[in-house]
Amino acid sequence: MGKYVGPVCRMCRREGMKLFLKGERCLSKKCAVERRAYPPGMAGQMRGKMKEYGLQLREKQKVKRIYGVLERQFRGYFEKAERIRGVTGENLLRLLETRLDSVLVKLGFASSPSQARQMARHGHFMVNGRKVDIPSFRVKKGDQITVCAGSDKLIVIASNLEKKSDSQVPDWLSLDRAALRGVVSDMPSRDSVQLPIQEQLIVELYSK
Ligand code: SF4
Repeated sequence: MGKYVGPVCRMCRREGMKLFLKGERCLSKKCAVERRAYPPGMAGQMRGKMKEYGLQLREKQKVKRIYGVLERQFRGYFEKAERIRGVTGENLLRLLETRLDSVLVKLGFASSPSQARQMARHGHFMVNGRKVDIPSFRVKKGDQITVCAGSDKLIVIASNLEKKSDSQVPDWLSLDRAALRGVVSDMPSRDSVQLPIQEQLIVELYSK
């Protein structure tokens, strides 16, 4: 399946929950999930209960949408998660959580996943002093993420940071606002994933 280019809020309505894909708007009354809490489309309000396969499929779609990952790449993450020692579902979430674009949102440098991807692609960030322009770049414990000097997005980043409170930064990351620096102080645990995800359903889907 190719990249979805339709209205972003439609994805949240389809999954029946807020996926927080639009920054500040997601916390306002304008959020489409708040206004129309039923799936999009003609049959949206008439859909019945899903069977097991449907639930597994929807969970996978939901996670792909949260992290902005396409099918092939997602499958790659899953295969990698299987090769890592431990619980596959948790490994999968850890791989996704530690993507640079995801970390930029969590630190408050970007207001939404799409903005984070764009900023990263345009080379506004460094990891351990080296410019990284790959949104899927995986950070690891001890990495330092800083804003490139002279970045033309500095004003946007400063304004995004203002809207992010310290309590919203997950405990596996630390943020130095003055220095525009984030540090990966630990690897994310399963409990630090804030959105409700049933990763076991995805494992079951791919294990068929
Ligand atoms: Fe989803 Fe945000 Fe749109 Fe609400 S405003 S539907 S949370 S993307």
